[in-house]
Amino acid sequence: MKNKGFTTRLVHADRVINKPQNGAVHQATNNSVLFAFDNAQDLVDVFQGKAAGHVYSRSSSASSVSLQNILCELEEGIGAVTFSTGMAAISATLLSLLRAGDHIIMSQFLFGNTSSLASTLQGLGIQISYVDVTDVQNVAAVMTPVTKLVYAETIANPATQVADLSAIGQLCEENKMLFIVDNTMTPANIFSPKSVKASLTIASLTKYVSGHGNVLGGVVIDTGLFDWRVFENILPMYRSADTQQWGLTQIKKRGLRDMGATLSPEAAHSISIGLETLALRVERICQNALRLASYLHGHEHVRHVYYPGLASHPQHYIARELFAGYGGIVSIDLVEKIDPLAFLNELNLVLCATHLGDTRTLGLPVAQTIYFENTAAQRAEMGINDNMLRFSVGIEDVDDIVADFEQAFAALQ
Ligand SMILES: *Cc1c(COP(=O)(O)O)cnc(C)c1O
Repeated sequence: MKNKGFTTRLVHADRVINKPQNGAVHQATNNSVLFAFDNAQDLVDVFQGKAAGHVYSRSSSASSVSLQNILCELEEGIGAVTFSTGMAAISATLLSLLRAGDHIIMSQFLFGNTSSLASTLQGLGIQISYVDVTDVQNVAAVMTPVTKLVYAETIANPATQVADLSAIGQLCEENKMLFIVDNTMTPANIFSPKSVKASLTIASLTKYVSGHGNVLGGVVIDTGLFDWRVFENILPMYRSADTQQWGLTQIKKRGLRDMGATLSPEAAHSISIGLETLALRVERICQNALRLASYLHGHEHVRHVYYPGLASHPQHYIARELFAGYGGIVSIDLVEKIDPLAFLNELNLVLCATHLGDTRTLGLPVAQTIYFENTAAQRAEMGINDNMLRFSVGIEDVDDIVADFEQAFAALQ
């Protein structure tokens, strides 16, 4: 399947990679928590990692491993670990790889809960420099000889800043820093973090990957590009002969097994079904989002439109070069005289809800919800205005989406 197109590979992946029995095209969902062995030595071998298999489903099950295999293949990685949510993947990865006293560099435009998690890490003694990642110079300026990693998102939410990904990847490679990319916003059919030398790709599977608002999940994938031998925090027992697996082994043992945020077999199954139509949905979403952003750009009631697909976007040149689509997030600042909450209330088709990457178009006021715990100064730093609305564009017929905005603007006249 290597030389076939993205969707061709995807819809046959479960069958070809995981080989379910009796001609099934999906891996069976098996809820067994325990796995019995006829021979005690076989149990010992699986425990010690000398043989493949499952011993307890908090650590692994056929369902989670099947999904990991598919996601790993899409990213052309060397391994993947799934979690119960995107936040579980992020927290398990950072908590299992970092120690008190470490220094890391993070984007100052982070997903709200990741930003909140980062303050927890600071409380545990991890030093964090937050920088504007749209320019690699800002990363280089705070880097020290002991900086462990750089963490960035591809297209930030809600203000759609695009990270200077190629240049940061290059800087990390030259300075032997781990480069973690949260690829939730630009899934595999539009961007591969491996192409910009990411070491680990993290994604929420809840969003575009599963796509239908019916399941939570997260994943971390090792691209195989990082030399874990230079990463001092790998514990002695995880320094096996295969040095490429050191990082994921530690994440799997410390982050998944010990912290316990395991993806359930049913959730793994739901995600793998949603995943089959990833490219169809995301292509449509990107087209719809570009059309909506173009309609809103220059609209008399809209002060600013944030969308990387617009030529006026400050990082349009990066997005055009790196991504096969500009994503589904379109944020706007309304003109002062329109109350953003009143505007949302006038929308009929667009749902007022906090989520993104869904088949349905969703909208919410940002400052008052996701970032309400932050101070006004912190919000300004992240590029968030108090009357900003964020929309996650869905797969509806685009004329219907635009018409809903038109009637809402008209209603507020
Ligand atoms: C939603 C999201 C997450 C967290 O994912 P959950 O599955 O909701 O825990 C992380 N990063 C980004 C960029 C997200 O949009």
